[in-house]
Amino acid sequence: MNWKKKILSTLTAAAVGLSLTFGTPATVQAGTADLIGAGVGIILQGAQLNAQLSAQIKHYEETEQGRQELYQALREKYGVNEDPEYNAKLERIITNLSKGVEAVDPTIKDKPYIYFVSSQKSINASCSMGRVMMVNAGTFEKITNEDELAAIVGHEMGHGQKSHVAKSNKNRLQKAVTASLAGTAIGSSIGGGALTSIIANLALNHSIAHGDKKQETEADLLGLEYMTHTNYNPGACAAVMQKFLEMSIGAEQSKAVALFNPSDHPDSAKRRDACAKKLTEYSGNHVTAKDGVVKVNNKTFITVAPAAGMSGAERSYFVMGNLAAAYHNKQNKHEATVQNGTVLLGNQPIITPAEGDEDAYTIAERLNAIK
Ligand SMILES: [Zn+2]
Repeated sequence: MNWKKKILSTLTAAAVGLSLTFGTPATVQAGTADLIGAGVGIILQGAQLNAQLSAQIKHYEETEQGRQELYQALREKYGVNEDPEYNAKLERIITNLSKGVEAVDPTIKDKPYIYFVSSQKSINASCSMGRVMMVNAGTFEKITNEDELAAIVGHEMGHGQKSHVAKSNKNRLQKAVTASLAGTAIGSSIGGGALTSIIANLALNHSIAHGDKKQETEADLLGLEYMTHTNYNPGACAAVMQKFLEMSIGAEQSKAVALFNPSDHPDSAKRRDACAKKLTEYSGNHVTAKDGVVKVNNKTFITVAPAAGMSGAERSYFVMGNLAAAYHNKQNKHEATVQNGTVLLGNQPIITPAEGDEDAYTIAERLNAIK
């Protein structure tokens, strides 16, 4: 059956059910008496509900057919953006990050991501069940730095690798489905097909939510770990959080940012600091950054100037990421040098000074003194 038709045919019923039953005890359990006057049908549904929910989630999470259904349904629901630049970027980022993921979690080889650019204008991305990912066109519009985009996608892959949506959906769906059944089934019974449709519809609505705080933190740290196995700058994870923080101060952007960082999530500053802390560990505790000041071995290395559409604070995390990679890869055994205007530590580029920064030779000299 056509997915869209199936969804539409149950959409109204489900919506009515939800609105009617808010705040009322809508729990339907197998074997209970007819407490809510819903008739024989709904009591049978109670018995079937858990099994059907599990089956539906497993269908989306684990089967190729289910993943394709979810992919198509999400494309219909959120629209598809065909911009060649956005699509090429997403393909490149997922290809690069998939190798980073594989270094940590080889299961990606058997279940690679299915993805598309949605036509939504807000800054958001989501990874649904079955590693079906969607990145909004608005994300590409507002975040132009590829390392920062990779940080966002890496976070979603953290959700995907850990099956966060499938794991948290059972409870959420159970509540939503029982609520909608209680509203629609009064005096009539619902067949297995209709129940499946309701579950499918609700699963779709619940499939793009981000997780709870614990899952968000896990996804952030996994994303950073994946980044360290690519050529992307692992400092971009903290940098993009700094960007969100600065955007949320501007009222115009706050709504868009809230979607990637809703109120039940750890706030951007905490997420930024958690990423920076992990990066310090990655550097062997040699590098820190705070308020735009990067320190090496606890000595001030540089106060980073704003450039390339970034504040000094946001840009400082890129310098920190480069330094962390240099220390992690033992490039600190080599000298800091200047090549074509860029400061390097060993073979690792650290910073290309922009207007407002000190000159490259001064920076290299200081790095040699404190590294
Ligand atoms: Zn998330």
